[in-house]
Amino acid sequence: MHSDPDCIFCKIVAGQIPSRKVYEDDELYAFHDINPWAPVHFMIIPKTHLPSLAQVGPEHAALLGRILTLAPRLALEQGCTPYPDGGFRVVVNTGTLAGQEVHHLHVHVIGGPRPWLKT
Ligand code: 5GP
Ligand code: ZN
Repeated sequence: MHSDPDCIFCKIVAGQIPSRKVYEDDELYAFHDINPWAPVHFMIIPKTHLPSLAQVGPEHAALLGRILTLAPRLALEQGCTPYPDGGFRVVVNTGTLAGQEVHHLHVHVIGGPRPWLKT
């Protein structure tokens, strides 16, 4: 497990910064966004420090698969209504131009009743 001492999400994984936990296992951590765009807004992150989707390689395929297969289960648990009339949005901002502010890979899961701040 790689950790960056200057990374806020590594500090959240380590419990050095408090967060509202949604899910945790050996490899993954999910927690509510501190500044939600919608009634349901949490992020799923790998516990290991990986700056963004731009650094992903074949060795990360299983990890990314686990994140994406976890997303629909947690979305429903957190109050997103079911597909197809309900649903949720999955966002991975990658790089400054795309709006990435925290450089530790995170998958936003966003849903719940509208209106949402970002449409
Ligand atoms: P990005 O813009 O990098 O895709 O998303 C980073 C997200 O992390 C933002 O939505 C922001 O609200 C959230 N965030 C930043 N710092 C913290 C924090 O200390 N705790 C939590 N729970 N979320 C944070
Ligand atoms: Zn990190």
